[in-house]
Amino acid sequence: MAEEKICKICKKAFTVNKYRPNQDVCSGVECQYRRQLENMAVWRKRNPNYFKYKEAQDDSWKETCKHRSLEWRKKHKEYLRLYRDAHKERHRNYMRKYMNEYRKKKKMEENAQDKNAQASE
Ligand SMILES: [Zn+2]
Repeated sequence: MAEEKICKICKKAFTVNKYRPNQDVCSGVECQYRRQLENMAVWRKRNPNYFKYKEAQDDSWKETCKHRSLEWRKKHKEYLRLYRDAHKERHRNYMRKYMNEYRKKKKMEENAQDKNAQASE
């Protein structure tokens, strides 16, 4: 059986959520909103150094960011290296083909020049 409680804000009976047995406010929008405000006020009283604390947190957060981007760069480098390794063979083949073409072209040009030279003799 679900437990019934009296809402501490609207004073109406409500059924306690079985996942939140300590609930003392009903699920009404108004009551939930008021509960949040109350919680915030209580929380602020309990954490007077929050803003100081937050600054300290921000510093560590910045450090975390810096660290993370370094990590990312490291990983990225590793990734690039892996990528290059994976494509090395392809790149080598491409370069070989390119150089062959280049040499062929050059040879043809040289031959043509030779022919021209011969023709002008
Ligand atoms: Zn209520």
